[in-house]
Amino acid sequence: MVFDASDHRDHEQVTFFSDEETGLQSIISIHDTTLGPSLGGTRILDYDSEDAALTDVLRLSRAMTYKSAAADLHLGGGKAVIIGDPEEIKTEALMRAYGRAVDCLDGRYITSVDVNSGVEDMEIIKEHTDHVVGTRDGLGDPSPVTAHGVLHGVKACVEHVYGTDTVSDIDVAVQGLGKVGYALAAGLAERGASVTVTDINDHKMEEFTEEHGGDSVAPDDIYGVECDVFAPCAFGGAINDETISGLTCDIVAGAANNILADEQRHAQMLTDAGILYAPDYVINAGGIITVYHEYHDGTEKQAFDEAEDIGDRLLTMIGRAEDEDITVLEAADAYAEERIESEGRTTPAQSW
Ligand code: NAD
Repeated sequence: MVFDASDHRDHEQVTFFSDEETGLQSIISIHDTTLGPSLGGTRILDYDSEDAALTDVLRLSRAMTYKSAAADLHLGGGKAVIIGDPEEIKTEALMRAYGRAVDCLDGRYITSVDVNSGVEDMEIIKEHTDHVVGTRDGLGDPSPVTAHGVLHGVKACVEHVYGTDTVSDIDVAVQGLGKVGYALAAGLAERGASVTVTDINDHKMEEFTEEHGGDSVAPDDIYGVECDVFAPCAFGGAINDETISGLTCDIVAGAANNILADEQRHAQMLTDAGILYAPDYVINAGGIITVYHEYHDGTEKQAFDEAEDIGDRLLTMIGRAEDEDITVLEAADAYAEERIESEGRTTPAQSW
């Protein structure tokens, strides 16, 4: 029974779309629109079951509400899934049918790129709806802004823990030299930090150390690197029951989504170990800030400038966590919830 789905708590609207001709099977979940239209990407995945797809979209749309609220944006949380193996199901006709589905929600949901959906898909969707970002004439790849925001988040954490406004004496271990991790590691190295990097791609490590110096280690060794800051920028679940005990750092702050395998429990474990954790959805908000400005015809400069506020926002949350003896993650959740409550929740009757 859908209403009993464990992840269905306070979602405004969840809509199921199917199109026999193209084989489209999609679920769009609008979690909350109190602060503005819901925004979140379209994930195309071959889920094990429809239940698994529903669980995923409910969870992800809720997370988007928190991410946008904690970034002080006028955006709500939404997400969409298209069920099926992208290699088999993704056709232009299917993406057109999906674009029409997005359009019929009349702007309550704005879509964007996500796992297995890219700029070329958004271009097709754009022919059927205005409620899409991440298109070719938009602001482009948000990763540089995300890296800029994470850098400012790391600086804020360093300021809080070591009382210094420079990272020049700081040792940082960066996991993952992708679009965000590489730019973050480079930014830290340019500011004088000692950087140790890892990636499953040796070529990226060589390129980084040649260009920026620093050390590189094998992927599994990154958790044991003696450092002040550990920055997971590769995949979710980097902090888990196995890795947490090996950490030597004082700060965990990185770009990856879902850094903590078991959110609240691992946040508490880090706090108990005296390690400051910068909640992922707060520190990596540069991406959502970029697409927000794209939707409102803003500029890349506006996005870069706003990403710098992530540092101060984190310091507010860290201060609250200390005052109230809670984790920084709990303080971030409370910050987001209070923003929504202060606007007066406008949730309409649930419609399915
Ligand atoms: P990416 O795919 O460009 O980079 C990921 C990198 O991690 C790759 O270089 C990959 O080789 C490496 N990697 C994979 N497995 C690894 C392992 N076991 N050990 C070490 N390295 C490994 O992705 P990205 O865009 O840089 O994003 C990184 C993370 O940040 C993701 O979790 C993403 O969801 C999150 N994020 C990204 C953005 C953005 O704007 N790109 C915004 C918010 C959150």
